[in-house]
Amino acid sequence: MQDVTSWKRALGVGFALIAAPVLTLNVLLAANLVTAAQNETDGLSRDVLAIVEHRLDSIVETLVDVAARGAPSCDPVRIDALKDAAFRAGWAADIAVIGPDDAPACSAFGTVRPLRRLSPEHDAFAPDVTVAAVQEATSGATALAVTWRASIGGGGYRAVVSADRLSPSVLRSIVSANFMMRISVPNGGVLIERIGDPNGARSTSLFIRSLSSTAFSERYPLSVDVVAPGSALIAANWVLFVYANIGGFVLGLLFALIYAMVTFRGGGPVREIADGIRRGEFEPYYQPVIDIVSGKLIGCEALVRWRRKGVILPPGRFIALAEASGEIYPMTLAVMARARDDLGALYGRLPHLELGFNLVAGHFDNLDIVDDVQRIFAGSPIRMSQLMFEVTERQPLQNIARARVVISRLQHLGARVALDDVGTGHGGLSYLLKLGVDVMKMDKMFVDAIGTERYSVAIVDSMVKLAADMRLELIAEGVETFEQLQYLRQKGVRVAQGYVFAPPLPAASFLQLADAMHPASEKAPSVDEGPPSPYVGPLRMAKAG
Ligand code: C2E
Ligand code: CA
Ligand code: CA
Repeated sequence: MQDVTSWKRALGVGFALIAAPVLTLNVLLAANLVTAAQNETDGLSRDVLAIVEHRLDSIVETLVDVAARGAPSCDPVRIDALKDAAFRAGWAADIAVIGPDDAPACSAFGTVRPLRRLSPEHDAFAPDVTVAAVQEATSGATALAVTWRASIGGGGYRAVVSADRLSPSVLRSIVSANFMMRISVPNGGVLIERIGDPNGARSTSLFIRSLSSTAFSERYPLSVDVVAPGSALIAANWVLFVYANIGGFVLGLLFALIYAMVTFRGGGPVREIADGIRRGEFEPYYQPVIDIVSGKLIGCEALVRWRRKGVILPPGRFIALAEASGEIYPMTLAVMARARDDLGALYGRLPHLELGFNLVAGHFDNLDIVDDVQRIFAGSPIRMSQLMFEVTERQPLQNIARARVVISRLQHLGARVALDDVGTGHGGLSYLLKLGVDVMKMDKMFVDAIGTERYSVAIVDSMVKLAADMRLELIAEGVETFEQLQYLRQKGVRVAQGYVFAPPLPAASFLQLADAMHPASEKAPSVDEGPPSPYVGPLRMAKAG
């Protein structure tokens, strides 16, 4: 169930990691595209206006020039000069001479047609020059009439340029090929409307609005509108969208891959421990604890092992990680529950046997462990008085006062508490004094020194004396040789564990050993019966005394 959810989560995250860059790139591209297209449309309207203005400028200059050379008249010399000027202007239509009544009197090429005014006359930038939208009465074509009038004497010159010739054809891109361009005169309406590509024009996209831009002339009464349809935008840029999607997908895939590597590598071992706990792969081995005076079995210490893929791993391979990740708490509960099931029958039969568990500093931060112990052993044949909890001196306790409370609550249940690895940590004598433990476990390091270093031997001696003075029970750990055993016995140590007796054993082997030392035919000693049975070890006797 947990696996399914995590797979769903991983898939969801992977999908999001792929989708996010694709979407982001598309949004960025779309935004950029709209901005670029708007810029292009703005530029287009400005360019068209500039060309129209330029053409009008040259007409105005021609008229001003013609006027400077002579007063308006239909004299043949004047007409020749007008022809000259019209040729120089190149594209301009006929230049007419108008009388004081404003009617055309004659023209350079004699093609003057009657005009209908579409707009009022507007002042142009040059003095005495006006511009108006007109319509040729016969053809109906729109045009611009540029008129110069003499300020004294009346009459003047008029050039008429058809709107068609005024507007340039600007084809720069697919966007402009599909544009719509309009030149308007105030109060004169639309002079001309042009479509870049008559087939593709005005087809607006449903999804992208069309873009428009208007440029106003400062010199002439003119404005230029340009409208580019959204479909043109897409048509011009769909290749970019394809690239953005391919790029985004590749980028997303890369993110997803990195995510997968990070999560499956980083969370791996901790996850494996959690899964192992769930599958019951963590099991206690039991190391016998022996009364070295009588040779009797006092009990055992539960030491966790990980049966992982058929291989037994020692605690050195996983305890530190379990502790750092917090998996140590469910693991400790699993070990206690398993020990209860493994040893319940034996311990029920032999109530003097002890069972030790290792706890970590974090267990002494709150009272959870007290509740857990009660819950796990409630209704079990194992009595609270048979339990011992070990706290190591190797790691500092967060809060001594709180630890003291947890210890006393465990003791109140009937269990005992030992300080483990004494002599290796920083707690030392102060821990022994403040924590109120019942037992001290001398670290293997000092046992190893027996017969080698004089200094360490002195420490063993003082530890024995310290335990006696403080009325603590002393257990020697890691006893490997008969010489060490002899020495400890001489010094008054009564309890030990170590390879000299047995290594930590799987449940079945420990049960076999215990059965051999205490055959089932033995009568179970009763705790309530007062006088201790011959099997009550020195731990009990010391406590009683
Ligand atoms: P510890 O509590 O000091 O346990 C004694 C260690 O010394 C055990 O190692 C035991 O196998 C080893 N040992 C016992 N006699 C001899 C001997 O004669 N010679 C040698 N060389 N070694 C001996 P183990 O089982 O590998 O455990 C190592 C440590 O891991 C334990 O040290 C304890 O601190 C921790 N540990 C083990 N099980 C648990 C557990 O269930 N919970 C917690 N929190 N810690 C555990
Ligand atoms: Ca221990
Ligand atoms: Ca130890």
